[in-house]
Amino acid sequence: HTIINSGHAKQQIISRQDKVGMIARDLMYDLRQAIYHNELTVVYQPKHNRVGHIIGVEALVRWTHPRYGFVSPAMLVMLAEDSGDISQLDQWVFEQCCITKAKWNAMGHQDLTMAINISPLQLNDDALPFFLANCVAKYGLNPQDIELEITESSEISDSKQVEKILQEISDIGIHLAMDDFGMGYSSLLYMRRFKVNAIKIDGSITRDVLTNTTNADIIRTISNLGKAQQVSVVAEYVETIEQREALAEMGCDIFQGYYHSPPLKPEDCQVYFLSHCR
Ligand code: C2E
Ligand code: MG
Ligand code: MG
Ligand code: MG
Repeated sequence: HTIINSGHAKQQIISRQDKVGMIARDLMYDLRQAIYHNELTVVYQPKHNRVGHIIGVEALVRWTHPRYGFVSPAMLVMLAEDSGDISQLDQWVFEQCCITKAKWNAMGHQDLTMAINISPLQLNDDALPFFLANCVAKYGLNPQDIELEITESSEISDSKQVEKILQEISDIGIHLAMDDFGMGYSSLLYMRRFKVNAIKIDGSITRDVLTNTTNADIIRTISNLGKAQQVSVVAEYVETIEQREALAEMGCDIFQGYYHSPPLKPEDCQVYFLSHCR
């Protein structure tokens, strides 16, 4: 009996894995179709300065699968990186952001920056700087108003190719921000090798700033580094006024999180801007 039972259990585990694989392949296929058919959307989360004015937004991709429902961007990005569709995904998002930014400029919101996430895998793509420059020009945007948020990755920290591509992006005038700063071992290496305009302290560090004294020390250290390098320091995951005040006292310049606002649909942004602009 035990032999039959364990054999049966094993079979179940394998078929479970197969199922997961099938769902992943399903999702990859559907994601490719969704990108192609413009079925993804982009939401925008406000960023505020020390006095509380909105200074810009971060674009975050959204996808609701017809059968599986909401698929988190972390999952989306993972699927697209594995299927080879990540550059289509990121470039689609980038172009949507340019279209939106041009619209906002026309409404008088030229002073708001647009931050866009990009997968580190894309930084191996020679065609990326040309695509970005072209897109920014196509919609008549000022490259300084666009910021690419780059997550550090062990694969790219040491590559001449990546260094060259980041330099080309910098030369276009597009700003670079180091996302999830403090999480990986190579954050500091990046700062030495690439011209970054902002560092975003990872949410897992800022989240418990009020209770974790080690994290508080890390935030102070990162803020000092930012000041010395003339780089602005962004705190994400700011959920309460108490966190905001503590982070400000520790030297953070820009605040993003549910305390100010969740990510908003573009039409809701326009309402938000009216009440939060200078
Ligand atoms: P991220 O760039 O670090 O973005 C911040 C994440 O924190 C977002 O999650 C945002 O919704 C969430 N967040 C904002 N404020 C708060 C808060 O106060 N509390 C908490 N708990 N969370 C907050 P989201 O939208 O799920 O995105 C997750 C990650 O997926 C992003 O992290 C980014 O790395 C990636 N991502 C999102 N959109 C894109 C995209 O278009 N392209 C690429 N390559 N990656 C993207
Ligand atoms: Mg980001
Ligand atoms: Mg982040
Ligand atoms: Mg993150």
